[in-house]
Amino acid sequence: MNIILIGIQGSGKGTQAKLLSDRFGWKHVTSGDLFRKNIEQRTKLGIVVKKYIDAGELVPDKYVLEMISDALNNAPDGFILDGFPRNIEQVLFLVDNFKIDYAILLDLSDEKAIERLMARRNCKICKKDYNVLFKKPKVPGICDECGGELVQRDDDNKDAISKRIEKFHNETNKVIDFFKQKDMLIQVNADLPLQAIHEDIASRLKGK
Ligand SMILES: [Zn+2]
Repeated sequence: MNIILIGIQGSGKGTQAKLLSDRFGWKHVTSGDLFRKNIEQRTKLGIVVKKYIDAGELVPDKYVLEMISDALNNAPDGFILDGFPRNIEQVLFLVDNFKIDYAILLDLSDEKAIERLMARRNCKICKKDYNVLFKKPKVPGICDECGGELVQRDDDNKDAISKRIEKFHNETNKVIDFFKQKDMLIQVNADLPLQAIHEDIASRLKGK
């Protein structure tokens, strides 16, 4: 099955993609990982893309689409797209070139997303990630692994988070509408424990 996963930051999108991938054998494809891999392996695309990233510029769609296409063409058992498509042009490209079965929307209110993102912490030394709501360290403020101090990322303040959320809505509203109109959208409540969300998704896909 070929699935697109849509969700606001903090909705647990990456975790759900991984759970689905592990259970059904669909390839987990994220644009961020593809960028990293291509750059690390110094592929032709990676070299071009690195120039944009180093300059702090957005990678043009043309290259993103090429990278995504490569990955999807190498997913004979199905794929889960995570973090892509971000705009309607990318959606049209996908549905024109690939068979997409469903888009799954992990539904989480802005307030909940802000609450979860504000709760994120990282170890200053080993960078291990924590969340004071559901992935707490044993001792508050101290890393379990190395004893380092746990800090918030600079861009996890309320203003920056609100801006990212607004951007997410601006980008994805049309994407969500598109799949709704095509009767391809599966909407799940993302304000539940991770495993409960996963079971909900799996059972709804099974019922299709
Ligand atoms: Zn640490």
